[in-house]
Amino acid sequence: MSTNQNPTPAAETRAAELRATLNRANHEYYVLSQPSLSDPEYDEFFRELRDIEDQYPDLKTPDSPTLRVGAPPSQQFESVQHPVPMLSLSNVTSEETYKAWYQRALDYLELDSADITLELKIDGLAVAITYVDGILSQAATRGDGTQGENITDNIRTIRAVPLILEGDDVPGTVELRGEVFYPISAFDRLNEEREAAGLPQYVNPRNSASGSLRQLDSSETAKRPLDMFFYSIGYAENGETPSSQYECLRTIKRWGCKTNDWARRVGTADEALAAIQEAAEIRADLDFGIDGVVIKIDDIGLQNRLGNVGRDPRWATAYKYPAEQAVTNLLEIRTNVGRTGNINPYAVLEPVVVGGVTVSQATLHNEEDINRKDIRPGDRVVVQRAGDVIPQIVGPAPSNIRDPGSEPYRIDPECPACGELVARDEDQADIRCINSTCPAQFERLLEHFASRGAMDIEGLGEKLAKELARQDLVSNIAEIYALRERKDDLLAMERMGEKRAQNLLDAIETSKSQPLPRLIFALGIIGVGSEIAETLARELRTLPDLLNTDEEKLTEIEGIGPILARSVRDWSQNEANIRLVQQLQDHGLTIEDDSPEPVADHPIKGKTFVITGRLDGFSRTEAANAVKALGAKSVGSVSKKTDYLVAGADAGSKLERAVRLEVTVLNEDQFKEILDGKLPDPAETTEEATAQLL
Ligand code: NAD
Repeated sequence: MSTNQNPTPAAETRAAELRATLNRANHEYYVLSQPSLSDPEYDEFFRELRDIEDQYPDLKTPDSPTLRVGAPPSQQFESVQHPVPMLSLSNVTSEETYKAWYQRALDYLELDSADITLELKIDGLAVAITYVDGILSQAATRGDGTQGENITDNIRTIRAVPLILEGDDVPGTVELRGEVFYPISAFDRLNEEREAAGLPQYVNPRNSASGSLRQLDSSETAKRPLDMFFYSIGYAENGETPSSQYECLRTIKRWGCKTNDWARRVGTADEALAAIQEAAEIRADLDFGIDGVVIKIDDIGLQNRLGNVGRDPRWATAYKYPAEQAVTNLLEIRTNVGRTGNINPYAVLEPVVVGGVTVSQATLHNEEDINRKDIRPGDRVVVQRAGDVIPQIVGPAPSNIRDPGSEPYRIDPECPACGELVARDEDQADIRCINSTCPAQFERLLEHFASRGAMDIEGLGEKLAKELARQDLVSNIAEIYALRERKDDLLAMERMGEKRAQNLLDAIETSKSQPLPRLIFALGIIGVGSEIAETLARELRTLPDLLNTDEEKLTEIEGIGPILARSVRDWSQNEANIRLVQQLQDHGLTIEDDSPEPVADHPIKGKTFVITGRLDGFSRTEAANAVKALGAKSVGSVSKKTDYLVAGADAGSKLERAVRLEVTVLNEDQFKEILDGKLPDPAETTEEATAQLL
């Protein structure tokens, strides 16, 4: 809120500090492509400065980073004056703030509605490329918005950038704008190679794109697989240009420029919000980073009427996804014991909002990982939460100042639950408690047994599992099926009323009819996830058969290697487990697989599928089940061993990888045909898949 108070000396000093920090960060980010702050740290400082300036407008100096775009161009490049400034974008982060932005634009225009074009907000760097008589004559970075750097030779090395525009309607002089980016798959490959060579990893594709494009030697740029999407016409002379943003995208595509096909034009705020949601859903499948959706009033005449406010156009804004990273303090590293005895370190954090939720804990995998990332209690760390993934610590924040006395983290040699000495797996980084009577292991097993993907017993979560075990009501998992006879003991537990107890007993009873694959998964055998459990159920058909199959037979099953076969065998030879299977059988659980036998001679039997993108007739799970029912496998990632990639709409990096590895790619119709037993013509599928990528 703006007031006309005189600034306090403290506010004045802080504003000066923040200006200096942000200006330095801008130079490191935009000019050197080597930020020493993380984006969330930068955004935090930026917000703080804007708040101070809002409170004391007198502190808004002309050099304030809140008023300027990017950073002045580097001296190393010739500088280029932009005839039309290259601006930044305001942003909105919720339905309400988006609707308010749209309404403000309509009020300004005195209109009831206006079409909007939505485009993916590509996370790269903006460039302006000028064509004279259709020939590429100059390319520049955004720089500080009015002056950029001449990077013409470097831009020429990017294959997505045409050197000559096609078409008889190309204006005599036209400046096209767009975003240069580093594809994610190529970035991952680059980092894999660097890791193999013992070199430090690059931080993110955006900085690599910026660094690659701003090489002084263009033959260096040519070695990097940079790509570009064009999205607008900056200005034009001697020729006509389209009167709407949407038409503009179609026109520049016709001239031979690569545009992003996701773009769409809508007429209402609700349609725009639905499209934004859709973009969020495909985000993880794209081979380029996006940090939101850019929303533009479609009509160029209306855009001109709206004009700019400060460093942002009034006719466009960015709907930004919640930041997936944040910086906070690592208070402590603690451990817990998994259901197989593995000791898992986790971080206790000062609570911080990441990806829209408050995070106070994060996984840390194992001791080796902690030390490779060099994370120590007391550090300021970057926390990441991408999609639905559990929060993780990326590493110390670039601005972390470490206490000189701090030491690398070592796991406590004693189990935090039973106090016995822990053991290290010889060839793995894992550390486990090998005490088979360790109570923590049983509590976790019980919790896993009842969990949603397993027996799905509602009401039996982490807390109750712990209490049932600690009060000796249950000492092996089959005993939960005998709890009916101990209802009084159950009722004596804290916060356990008649209704809750009955619901729990009913849920336990219902779980008896869960199909065999779920029961096998629920048993918590090391290495047996839900997919392997399904394979075991399909191949062995009954639970007693699981006990009786020897290691050699197990390895004959597709997808079961020697380590897994050994683990299953170790489990099934254990006396307590043999008794457990008998008890589960006595309690009337489903111990036979009732799914139909796979079709014996279907042509896809034994083949491996990966399913990606959006299919019209199936969800991904339905598609996976359809191939499994025919004796094939459905896995998550594309490798040389993949036989088929089923690519629905907006298939991203997996499609690209499949084409590179020459894996047969099927569209939805070809997929349906293959399910019907008709194998497609490989030449046809490959040609189509390559076309899909262009
Ligand atoms: P911005 O990235 O929020 O939005 C403007 C930019 O969006 C445009 O310049 C253009 O490049 C891009 N864009 C992508 N797709 C587009 C499309 N379809 N249509 C139009 N534009 C499109 O603003 P900004 O000023 O470029 O960057 C600010 C952000 O950069 C900050 O929030 C911060 O996170 C980061 N930053 C970090 C540091 C650091 O030290 N870590 C320093 C400076 C900036």
